[in-house]
Amino acid sequence: MDAEGDARPAAPPTTPRYEGSDRLDPAARTAAVARLRGTSVQEPLDVLVIGGGVVGAGAALDAAARGLTVGLVEMHDLAAGTSSRSSRLAHGGLRYLEQREFALVHEALTERGLLLDRIAPHLAKPVPLLFPVTRRGWERPYVGAGIHFYDMLSRIGAYGGAMPRPKTLSKVQALGLAPDLREDALVGAVRFYDAQIDDARHTVAVARSAAARGAAVVTRTKVVGLLREGERVVGALLHDHETGETYEVHARAFVGAAGVWTDAVRSLLGDQGTAEVRQSKGVHLVVPRQAFRSTTALMTRTPTSVLFVLPWGRHWLIGTTDTDWDGDLAEPSVDVDDVEYLLDQANRWMARPLTHADVMGVYAGLRPLLNLGPADGGTATLSREHGIVRPAPGIVLIAGGKYTTYRVMAADVVDAAVKELAELGMHGIPESSTADIPLVGAEGYAEMWTGRAAIADESGVDVASVEHLLRRHGDRTPDVLDLIADDPSLGLPLHPDEAYLRAEVVVAATHEGARGLSDVLVRRLRVALETRDSAVTVARDAAELMAPVLGWDHDRVMTEIEAFAAGRPLLPAARDLDEV
Ligand code: FAD
Repeated sequence: MDAEGDARPAAPPTTPRYEGSDRLDPAARTAAVARLRGTSVQEPLDVLVIGGGVVGAGAALDAAARGLTVGLVEMHDLAAGTSSRSSRLAHGGLRYLEQREFALVHEALTERGLLLDRIAPHLAKPVPLLFPVTRRGWERPYVGAGIHFYDMLSRIGAYGGAMPRPKTLSKVQALGLAPDLREDALVGAVRFYDAQIDDARHTVAVARSAAARGAAVVTRTKVVGLLREGERVVGALLHDHETGETYEVHARAFVGAAGVWTDAVRSLLGDQGTAEVRQSKGVHLVVPRQAFRSTTALMTRTPTSVLFVLPWGRHWLIGTTDTDWDGDLAEPSVDVDDVEYLLDQANRWMARPLTHADVMGVYAGLRPLLNLGPADGGTATLSREHGIVRPAPGIVLIAGGKYTTYRVMAADVVDAAVKELAELGMHGIPESSTADIPLVGAEGYAEMWTGRAAIADESGVDVASVEHLLRRHGDRTPDVLDLIADDPSLGLPLHPDEAYLRAEVVVAATHEGARGLSDVLVRRLRVALETRDSAVTVARDAAELMAPVLGWDHDRVMTEIEAFAAGRPLLPAARDLDEV
C-alpha cells in the first residue's frame, strides 16, 4: 500500500499524551521503554526519532513542542557520536564567507545569538579570538573587512548583537594579549568574538527538554529493522543493549537523525542507493593552559582548512584535522600523523613550541557531510549544509549541517515528518516553536549567576565551585547542591586536577541519563579527556557513586571499570604517542 493508496481513515493523535519530566533517571528509562513497547499499529506514536545526537534530540524537542507524541532512541549514549566531539564553537563559520555562503553564515550566527541569549545561556558563552595577519599590505584590510562583515551579519536580526565589535590590532597589541605568540609569525591581528558551547551537555539538555514535553527518551537501544505496510514504514525493530531484548515500536512517521550512520539506517529499508553521507575525521588535542600564555583564543589558516586554539577550563583545545575516514564510525582513531600535524600547525604560532609531552588528551569525531562534492576533492570542500531525503513513505532522514544550526535542522526535518503525518490525515500541526524554548537549566540562570555569592554563602560551597556548577547545570545547580548538603563529601573534587565535584557524578545518573561510566567520565564530565591518567584513577570512585542510583552490584561496578579502562577512546592515541 503506497502513500497515495493508503485507505486508512484520517488519524487524529489518538495516543494519549504522556506527562513528562526532565529527569532522565532509571525510572524514566523504564517508563519510556514501556511507552515504546505499548505502541501498536492501532496506537502508534506520532514520531519516532532515530539517533540521540544534537539533531535527533533537537527533532524530538521540536516535535514534542508541537504537541506530537514522540519517542527518541539512541543506540549508545546521548551525544556519543559526533555531538560530543566537536570544536565546541557555536559559530557562523568565518571560512564559509570566502565560499560566499552568506545565507548559511547568517543563519548560523542567528542561532549563535539564540543560544547565548535565550536557549542555553548557561552552556554557551562568548570567546575572544585572534586572527593573526602575516603579511603587510593587502592582508590586514582583507581579513579585517571579512571579519567586520561577519560581525555585521550577526547583527542583522533580533539576536547576536551582544558581542563586542571586532578590532584590528598592531603586532604589539596582539602580543600583549597573547605573549606566547611568536613575534616573527605575525605583523598584526584582528580580534573578534564567537561563542563556545559545551556540546555534550547541551545535547543532554535538549533531550531533557524533550522529555519534559513527554518524549520517551531511551538510550542503549538500536534501531535494527524497519517494518513496512506496503511501501510505508510503520514500525521499527529495536534492540535494547541493556536487556538483550528486541521489540517493536510503531509510529506514524520516522525521523532518521543518525549522522554518519545515515546510510546504515537507510540500508534497513533494503535500499543500497547512492551514499548520502561521507565522513571526514577531525582530531583535537587537549593541552594545559600554561603551555601557551594567552588571554584569547587563536584562529589561523592551515594549508587545507583552519586551526583553532580554544580555551577550555584549565586547558586549550587545538583542532582540527579534516581527512577522509572509512574505518570504525563509533570510535575513529587518532594516529601519530594527526597529532604531529596539529602540533606543527600550532607551533607555527608558538614562541614556546608544544611537544608531545604537552598533549594530555586527544579526541576524534566524524563530520557527517552531504555527499555532494567531487570524490577526489578532499573533505574540506564539501558542503556543511544539511539535506533531507525521503527514502520511503513514512520516513525522512536528515544529515549534514553543523552543531550550531541543529535547531534549524530539527525544525526542517520535523516539517518533513509533518508532511508524512498529513498523508495520514493529521492536519493543523503547529510550526516549530523551539526558538522560544529555553532549555533545561536556562531559565533562572542569569538571576542565579548574579546571586552566586549568596548561593555560595548559603550552601557553604566556594564561589569558584558555584560558578563551575552554574556554567554546567544552570538553574539546576540546586540538584547538585542539595546532594552536597546531605553528604558534604560529595562536594569534594572527583579528580585532584579538575573542578568537577563528586556530586556531579551522581546527578549525571539521577538526572542526565548517564547509564555507564564513560557516559559520565567522557561526556557529562570531561574528566577522561582532560587528565593525564584519563580518569582511570577515579573510575572506581565514580562507579561506586553511580552504583546505588543504577542498581549496580560489586560485580557490575568491576565490569564497568574494566570496560571503561579497556574502551577509553583516547588511549590508543596515547600509546601511539609513547611509541614516537
Ligand atoms: P551525531 O551526533 O553523530 O548523532 C547521531 C546519533 O545517531 C549517534 O549518537 C548514533 O549513536 C545514533 N544512531 C545511529 N544509528 C542508530 C540506530 N540505528 N539506532 C539508534 N541510534 C543510532 N559544528 C559546529 O557548529 N561547531 C563546531 O565547532 C564544530 N566542530 C566540529 C569539529 C569536529 C572535529 C567535528 C567532527 C564536527 C564538528 N562540528 C561542529 C559539526 C557537528 O559536531 C556535527 O554536525 C553534529 O554534532 C552532528 O550531529 P548529529 O546529531 O547529526 O550526529
